[in-house]
Amino acid sequence: MGLLDGKTAIIYGVANHRSIAWGIAQALQREGARLALTYQGDRVEKYVRDLSATLTDPLILPCDVTDDAQIAEVYRQVGEEFGRLDAVVHSVAFAEREDLEGRFVDTSRQGFRTALEISAYSLVAVARGAHELMKEGGSIITLTFAGSLRAYPSYNVMGVAKAALEASVRYLASDLGPDGVRVNAISAGPINTLSARGISGFSTMHKAAAERSPLRRTTTQAEVGDAAVFLISNLSRGVTGETLYVDSGLNSVAV
Ligand code: NAD
Repeated sequence: MGLLDGKTAIIYGVANHRSIAWGIAQALQREGARLALTYQGDRVEKYVRDLSATLTDPLILPCDVTDDAQIAEVYRQVGEEFGRLDAVVHSVAFAEREDLEGRFVDTSRQGFRTALEISAYSLVAVARGAHELMKEGGSIITLTFAGSLRAYPSYNVMGVAKAALEASVRYLASDLGPDGVRVNAISAGPINTLSARGISGFSTMHKAAAERSPLRRTTTQAEVGDAAVFLISNLSRGVTGETLYVDSGLNSVAV
């Protein structure tokens, strides 16, 4: 018996086999959840469809989170196909490459807007749509990084976006809690993904995590996937508005 038998979930943010969202998809599937996956555009559709061949009867839908009409269409189709929704995994972030190198003080107005819209506001937009389908309560999860609390070299505007994202988790938890909908963040340690490679100096950060974290190793997609299972399952029924660190303990030590 799986921890998520009979549950339905939608996952935003699979781009390829390295995506954290894909690690989460595999863990949710293993525990018995029925999945809907979204892909950002034609560029990643093939990767997502190929990966999804290993899932049981998935629903695959396009969704650019900057477009409210696409988000509405996603939930229309999820409602039609699943009838209801138990979980949302939001594993989406973006900032212009030039804003993930050099000095934060040089961030442009448009670069700031883009990073905050895609990486933080999108959680609010997808949570609002999902809420209406969460007839028996539910669980919403997003992915964050400790650059929200401390300044990491080159993380820059993404750190500010993650601070906004974590605050959004608390406000959403407060709004949706009375309806039994829980909202939490997983703060993952550095993982080698497509987005991570866009951050200047990422490999130094990744290496430092392996050397200095209490567990002396980097975080894996599978570890984040298992934490997501916990946050979606009934085991975490008393947890909301929280940031759960899955980072080999890195945030707990002075580096
Ligand atoms: P990834 O590149 O695999 O995933 C990022 C996803 O965001 C992609 O699927 C991309 O298509 C999607 N995306 C970007 N703009 C979008 C838009 N406008 N509409 C819809 N989707 C859009 O990289 P990842 O590392 O798996 O990132 C997933 C999440 O995990 C991000 O929020 C990231 O900040 C967070 N995170 C990553 C790490 C790490 O070290 N990799 C650590 C902590 C947190």
